[in-house]
Amino acid sequence: MALHTGSKTAAVCEDCGKAVAVWVSDDGTASPIGQRRGCSCGNDSFRLLSDRPSQSA
Ligand SMILES: [Zn+2]
Repeated sequence: MALHTGSKTAAVCEDCGKAVAVWVSDDGTASPIGQRRGCSCGNDSFRLLSDRPSQSA
């Protein structure tokens, strides 16, 4: 059984609007890929571009 705990999707920084790739956990938490501390502007809140992450991207 393969682990599949999240989905990769796109989001934008709520502060500067920069587009980033994020992992969405089962609980809905968005974690920027490659940027553990959030956006390079210092913000750590992101708005997902879609409510349901694509599973076929
Ligand atoms: Zn930002």
